Amino acid sequence: MQDAKRLEIIDAEMPRMRAAFDFMLDHPETGYHEWQATAYLAAEYERLGYTLTRAGDIPGFYTDLDTGRPGPKILILGELDALKVAGHPHEDPVTHAAHACGHNAQSAALLGLAAALKAPGMLDGLSGSIRLCAVPSEEFADIDAQEKLRAQGRIVYYGGKQEYLRRGYFDGCDVAYMIHTGGGRHRFQINMHSNGCILKTATFTGKATHAASPRFGINALDAATLAMNGINALRPLFRDIDFLRTHPILAEAGTAVNSVPARVLMINQVQGASIEACRAVNDAVNRAVAAGALAMGAGVHLCDRPGYLPGSFNKKLARLSMDACATLVGKENAIINDDPLRQETGCTDMSDLSAVMPAVHIYGSGAAGAGHSVDYRIADFDCALGESAKAQLLILCRLLENGAAAAKDILSDAPLVFAHRADYFAYLDALVKDVDAVTYGEDGRISICL
Ligand SMILES: [Zn+2]
Ligand SMILES: [Zn+2]
Repeated sequence: MQDAKRLEIIDAEMPRMRAAFDFMLDHPETGYHEWQATAYLAAEYERLGYTLTRAGDIPGFYTDLDTGRPGPKILILGELDALKVAGHPHEDPVTHAAHACGHNAQSAALLGLAAALKAPGMLDGLSGSIRLCAVPSEEFADIDAQEKLRAQGRIVYYGGKQEYLRRGYFDGCDVAYMIHTGGGRHRFQINMHSNGCILKTATFTGKATHAASPRFGINALDAATLAMNGINALRPLFRDIDFLRTHPILAEAGTAVNSVPARVLMINQVQGASIEACRAVNDAVNRAVAAGALAMGAGVHLCDRPGYLPGSFNKKLARLSMDACATLVGKENAIINDDPLRQETGCTDMSDLSAVMPAVHIYGSGAAGAGHSVDYRIADFDCALGESAKAQLLILCRLLENGAAAAKDILSDAPLVFAHRADYFAYLDALVKDVDAVTYGEDGRISICL
C-alpha cells in the first residue's frame, strides 16, 4: 500500500481518536490507577478485533498483530496516566488528577494507529510483528500511592514500563518507540540525551507539644527546613555538564498551628545526566537531610527508590524516525537534538527501555501552555492526534518494509547499556534504600546510618 493511502486511512480515524482523547481528559487518573482509561481503550481495541493481554492487577494491556511474515517485533507505546494539577480546568475534583502532559493524546493516537493497522491491505509489504501497549504510570504524580502498591507487592517499580519489563510483557520485542505530545518549536523532535533520576522521601519525626511551649517538643518542620537549607547549600557544587536538579516538596508539614509539627514528609528527586552524578548528589542530599534532623534532635527515615535511567536512545532508529516524520512535515520540522549542552532535563521510563533494546522517545506537537501546569492544553488536534498517528505508522512501515531490512539493520549493531535484563534490574534494585538515618541511643550515643 502506498503511503498516501495509509495516511488517508489515519485521517478517517480522527473521530475515534478525538473521542478517546475526550474520555481520558474527563477521566484523569494518576499512575497505576488508570482503570477507567484501561476499560475504555480495551473496549475500543476489542471492537477493532484485537485480543488483549491485560496486566490485570494493575492497569494497562498489550496486544499483538502479526504480518504473517517473519521478522522483528516492534513495540509501540501510549501512556495512560495523568498528573495532579489542582486548578486545571479538567481536573478531577476529588483527586486533582488532570491530563497536563498530553498522555491522553498519546493513547488516542495509538488507538488511531491500531484502527488503521486493521484496514485491509495495511500490512501488505511488511514483515515481522507489532505489539501495541497501553502502559500505565509514567509520571511520579502520587508517590505515596505507588509506594503503597509496592509495599503490598503489587508492583516493584514506580514506572509502568519498568514494571511491564519486569513482568515479561516486553519479552520478544526487538525495537521500541513512542510519540509524546509536545509543543516545542519543531513538529517532531528527538532529544538524544535526557536526564535520569532517583526518587526519595524523607520522613522527619519529632515530638508534638503545645506551640506556646516548644521547648517540650521536637519540631520536625524545623528539621526539614534545615535539611532544605543544607540541600540548597549543595547547589553550587553541581557541575553544569551534569544537569543536576533536586527540588524537594513538603507533602506533610504539620497539622495545626498551635501544635509543634511531629511529622513532616519531604518528597524529592535527584535528576542528572548520569546515574553516577545522581548518586553522588543523592548521597550528599541524604547527609543534608540527616544533618537537619540531627540539629533538632529529630529522627528521619530515608527511602530511596529507583527513578528512571538517563536516555540512551538508538541513533539509527532516531534517524529513520525523523526521516519518516520529515515526509510529513519537512526536514526542518523533524529534528534530532544530539547536543549534550542542550539536553532534555525531563525524565522518562522510555529511557529504561532504551537501556535494554533499541528505542526512541519522540516529541510531537499540538500542545500549548506549560507542561504540568493549569494552562496546558491541546491547541492543535490535527498535530497531537492525526499527525502523531501518521508518524507512528510511517516509522513502522519504514522499519518493517523490504523484509524488515531497516529493523534488522538496527538490531545488527545496537549498543545497549545492559545486554542482559537481569543486570538492569540489579542496577535498579541497588538504588533502593530504607533506613532510619538518625537514631538516639539510651546511653546518649547518636547513630548516623546513610
Ligand atoms: Zn509529564
Ligand atoms: Zn509526559
